[in-house]
Amino acid sequence: MNEPLLKAQGLVKRFRTPSGGETIAIDYVDIDLYKGEVIALIGESGSGKTTLGRALLRLLALDAGEITFDGVDLLSLRGSQLREARRSFQMVFQNQQANLHPRLSVIEMLNESLRLHQPLLDEESRIQKATDLLDRVGLTDHHQRYLASLSGGEQRRVGLARILATTPKLVVADEPTSGLDAAIKLQTIDLLKELRGDSLTYLLISHDLGLVRRIADRVLVMLRGRIIEEVPIEGLGKVKHHPYTQKLLDAANLGSSRGQAAEVMSTTTASIEDVQGRGPGCHYCELCPLLTNDESLSIHCTSHRPPLENKVACFPLSVQRGNTL
Ligand code: SF4
Repeated sequence: MNEPLLKAQGLVKRFRTPSGGETIAIDYVDIDLYKGEVIALIGESGSGKTTLGRALLRLLALDAGEITFDGVDLLSLRGSQLREARRSFQMVFQNQQANLHPRLSVIEMLNESLRLHQPLLDEESRIQKATDLLDRVGLTDHHQRYLASLSGGEQRRVGLARILATTPKLVVADEPTSGLDAAIKLQTIDLLKELRGDSLTYLLISHDLGLVRRIADRVLVMLRGRIIEEVPIEGLGKVKHHPYTQKLLDAANLGSSRGQAAEVMSTTTASIEDVQGRGPGCHYCELCPLLTNDESLSIHCTSHRPPLENKVACFPLSVQRGNTL
């Protein structure tokens, strides 16, 4: 495989708690994102997914770690260099439409984005480019419309067109379909797939395994600030998973059979908040049905933290995978 577009190593982010303590939201995370890939980051609310997505784009300061983006040390950039680098990556927030201007028409909004991000374009080229972008997101007949006259799905499309106006290399999409009804959700998923093209890389943060299965190439599972499993999409649900991943998949399957495919990951109980005062062992040991402490096998779930080895942070499973490689 080629060099990653983004390579992050040893990322750490801590927050102060109201009681004066400390919670660790990103716990020594390494992550590689390759050009043209869609990587899904899954895990329940509070596992650190959004914090990690924001940290990768330098939207919040880290306590430790290194990030290389397109060959450049991202954390060393300041001022105009950082502003320039920021043209290459964008974050799609859950409420992206909140950033749309209510008094500008759709074409005026795009024109403004292009003026900001591509200042060398003249007016005629900007209008042409804005028109092309609206065609790409399926809003050909909506140039003169205003925010209030657009449906929720159309507003998401305008938001995506504005993101594309910046010609990003990396898009971090945080729950891009949350709050949408089923039909608009499907349209948005298809649009994300279509816009992916050959060169756009997505980090997709989502609770929605239906969306993940439809669009992702690779899945990273996050638990209490750590990446605890990595799996190619074709292996999801087919390999022997980390017990936490398996619990998420079981919850999702249960949810789909009841017509509740999205928002199924709030059924587990391991969030960042309970990291305070935890012991040195596995992040999942007090919930894990496979917990093992066996000197003869050198497996110490309660006293050692399992590294991400053989793409899984679980002592017995990592050994099993190693034996089958
Ligand atoms: S390392 Fe031990 S406690 Fe952690 S998930 Fe694996 S078996 Fe369970």
